[in-house]
Amino acid sequence: MVALRSEPPSLSETDDHALLRQTVRQFAQQRVEPQAMEHDESGTFNAALLAEVGALGLIGVTIPEADGGAGMDAVASCIVHEELAYCDPGFALGYLAHALLFVNNFYWAGNAAQRARHLPGALAGTTIGAMGMSEPAVGTDVLGMQTVARQVGDTYVINGRKTFITNGVDANVFCVYAKLDDRITTFVIERGAPGFTTSPKISKMGMRASSMCELVFEDAVVPASNLLGTAGGGITNMMRNLEIERLGLAAMSLGMARRCLDVMTRYATERRTFGKPLHEHGQIQRYIGESFAKVEAMRALTYNVAATVGPTQRNRLGTDAAKLFAATAAKEVADAAVQVLGGYGYCAEYRVEQFLRDSKLIEIGGGTLEAHHKNITRDLTR
Ligand SMILES: Cc1cc2nc3c(=O)[nH]c(=O)nc-3n(C[C@H](O)[C@H](O)[C@H](O)COP(=O)(O)OP(=O)(O)OC[C@H]3O[C@@H](n4cnc5c(N)ncnc54)[C@H](O)[C@@H]3O)c2cc1C
Repeated sequence: MVALRSEPPSLSETDDHALLRQTVRQFAQQRVEPQAMEHDESGTFNAALLAEVGALGLIGVTIPEADGGAGMDAVASCIVHEELAYCDPGFALGYLAHALLFVNNFYWAGNAAQRARHLPGALAGTTIGAMGMSEPAVGTDVLGMQTVARQVGDTYVINGRKTFITNGVDANVFCVYAKLDDRITTFVIERGAPGFTTSPKISKMGMRASSMCELVFEDAVVPASNLLGTAGGGITNMMRNLEIERLGLAAMSLGMARRCLDVMTRYATERRTFGKPLHEHGQIQRYIGESFAKVEAMRALTYNVAATVGPTQRNRLGTDAAKLFAATAAKEVADAAVQVLGGYGYCAEYRVEQFLRDSKLIEIGGGTLEAHHKNITRDLTR
């Protein structure tokens, strides 16, 4: 276990945020860290651990207290993602897919009856959620999705395929986007709905402690009451949720980078070459110094943007920028850690090779680097 180093609190953190960070950090050290390598190796999601996270009240961070959540904000959501990712990025991704892609999305789009049916289990972490947007032929170009829904009496019949769906293997309930009369609409779909199946697990490079698979809809039938929000309102749901998702991914990047910085700094103090500690060599100082600067910049950008985002407050430009910067910075810091540790970095023991594999995902999931470039340029040139 790597000793946790103190770091300055972000400017946007209140006392409640500090207490939350302390709670999550302690839980992550005691319960998340010990199981992380095993789940990276087996490529499985620790569903029982998600229920422990739920029991601590950490799933509905952004859900109002009146409905069983913690009633906190996007800064709080970032704190949980950062601290979980410091110990286990793959588990943190499964948490994100559940807490943000499903719970937060579902809550703000859903009505009272839908919330009564799905929210208690989802907040407890005993029901696992996932979100299906991407398709085999359509990822970045999401408006071109091919999954369709048509109304038949008091049901909707859905046809299509979703792919790369985090938690897909383990989930019991899904937020799924499909075109209804050519307008993107959100549906809540339970495992077991007639005509709905999931594929076997898809194997992947990193984030292996979360599962991923396809969702297959072959004349899948769901009750009309499973439409989330309004017919044609899927884009609004999707865009609102993408912002907090991007912040969660940026915060995960920060957690990964902090971990790698801590590992390389300690290693450079303990390891000696040519008669002196590694950290006395100038080239090693460059890896450590630049990594520290990246961590500080990631923290400042991510939390400053998070302080401007809420269910009715949008900051598309800021969230795109935070994830764009943090994704690549985390990958570079993980790569620097592997380099500083040499052969030990390339092997599993210190886990920095895992963090390098895991951090690469943030350059793709939740919007690729190229999607962020396009979004930012579009908004700046409007
Ligand atoms: C581990 C993992 C977990 C995921 N979890 C989920 C999930 O839970 N739910 C979900 O719905 N999706 C999920 N995704 C899917 C993810 O959001 C998509 O992979 C991502 O949006 C990119 O889509 P794509 O893979 O189809 O790439 P494509 O859109 O085919 O793009 C391929 C490449 O071309 C680039 N490109 C595409 N169009 C342009 C353009 N116009 N200009 C310049 N470059 C372009 C892209 O940036 C990318 O580099 C996950 C993906 C991964 C890898």
